[in-house]
Amino acid sequence: MDREVRVRFAPSPTGALHIGGIRTALYNYLLARKLGGKMLLRIEDTDQNRFVPGAEEYIFEALDWLGMRIDEGVREGGPHAPYRQSERKQMYRRYIDQLLAEENAYYAFDTPEELDAMRGRLIAAKVPMQQYNAVTRMQMRNSLTLPESEVKELLHSGGPYVIRLKVPRKEEVRLNDMIRGWVMVHSSTLDDKVLLKSDGMPTYHLANVVDDHLMDITHVIRGEEWLPSAPLHVLLYRFLGWETTMPQFAHLPLLLNPDGNGKLSKRYADKYGFPVFPMNWNGVDADTGQPVLVKGFRESGYLPEAVINFLALLGWNPGTEQELFTMEELIQAFSLERVGKAGTKFDIDKAKWFNQQYLKGKPDDELSEFLLKELENREIDCSPEKAEKIVNVMKERVTFPTEFLSEAGYFFEAPVEYEQAVVQSKWTPEAAGIIAAFREVLDETGMLTAESAKATLNGVLEKHGVKIGKVLQALRLGVTGVGHGPDLMKIMEILGKDETTRRIDRALNTLKSQGV
Ligand code: GLU
Repeated sequence: MDREVRVRFAPSPTGALHIGGIRTALYNYLLARKLGGKMLLRIEDTDQNRFVPGAEEYIFEALDWLGMRIDEGVREGGPHAPYRQSERKQMYRRYIDQLLAEENAYYAFDTPEELDAMRGRLIAAKVPMQQYNAVTRMQMRNSLTLPESEVKELLHSGGPYVIRLKVPRKEEVRLNDMIRGWVMVHSSTLDDKVLLKSDGMPTYHLANVVDDHLMDITHVIRGEEWLPSAPLHVLLYRFLGWETTMPQFAHLPLLLNPDGNGKLSKRYADKYGFPVFPMNWNGVDADTGQPVLVKGFRESGYLPEAVINFLALLGWNPGTEQELFTMEELIQAFSLERVGKAGTKFDIDKAKWFNQQYLKGKPDDELSEFLLKELENREIDCSPEKAEKIVNVMKERVTFPTEFLSEAGYFFEAPVEYEQAVVQSKWTPEAAGIIAAFREVLDETGMLTAESAKATLNGVLEKHGVKIGKVLQALRLGVTGVGHGPDLMKIMEILGKDETTRRIDRALNTLKSQGV
């Protein structure tokens, strides 16, 4: 019988969740939805030293913002609760006992100094990998080398110890990754990883495998950085007798900096001024304890739909020319078979392009909310109707909602300066003459609409036998102060007749003696 597809997103709350983590969550989510399965959220917080307050909430908020609904997890609950590993501490013990009993794990009592000394010896002997393994373990203080009575005594004494995985000495460990195909690793390259730490907490490796098994996970979809751990996990599945239900692995390609050089990093992103986190974060670094400030996609003006669409295509491709996908369309189209192995460039310009596409597709009333909020922050009055008209004319021209104001300040403030290059090239005596005539006629017209403005201007041009191309830019300059922008007739409609005539008067006065 086919098993129900169950995937999990298993972040560690060690700081702001990186955008790569969001992509991992997304691919899990898409697969679960596509195959009618379940998506779990498990918090992997067994490393208490690296726990950062607020990091968990950050994860929830980011998933909510991006519209990824979790079926079972810390907040949602579910049949396998608790979903926070620190709360599952007691559950891991019996698996450790099983591994010990079957001699697939052992106690190790080495002090940090003894471990350092071992590393030192290996470095001196030019051994490339300084590992605790089938060879070195025999020179260390553990339950494989010490007499049984001494081991018992040490355990009774309550002194610190860890439990390590006993990696077989000479064996090929194989796993069939859904993205990479067969991955073969020789066990001599693997470390006898610690499974249980001296504080009684399991390490990532043990807790991850035990939980994936207990939670009936069918697919482990995670970043490439976990590939080196996968053979250890395969060994654990085998030792625990769970090989037949071992999940399928899919290790996602790395995200690279936009120039293709190196792994996508915050440092690079900061330098070029783009975000690599879903939301702003004002927290501390788990390793250094130093305050960190990260910039988010959300606060930088990206829409959740755009972020999802952008991330979906960072590693996966639909095999068609289609670029714009709603979440529903992604769910339909997604498959792990179409995820590549090669690292993917984090092309931030593409992210901007997606944002633009989604922004212009939004209804005016929704977009006007952005503008109204921005205006409110600056204590500028504006009616909802006017805001809707402004976003309607601007939406084809902006990438981020903040640009509704930054690119179109002239809707709220009459120009005090005029773009000099345009003054020089377009403010001709002829243009100024037509503009003056236009302004006179405006006085006699009723309400100003884009159509009436156009008709009036055309009437004046015809009367004087002048082509519109000789005047339009100058008129735009007079009304907005700049030489570019959306349809000028619509701008004049939004400004209204009184404001438009006031601005034209001012331009005629100010620019009288300038121009060509
Ligand atoms: N806790 C690991 C992380 O922080 C999860 C890795 C995995 O998915 O197995 O990414």
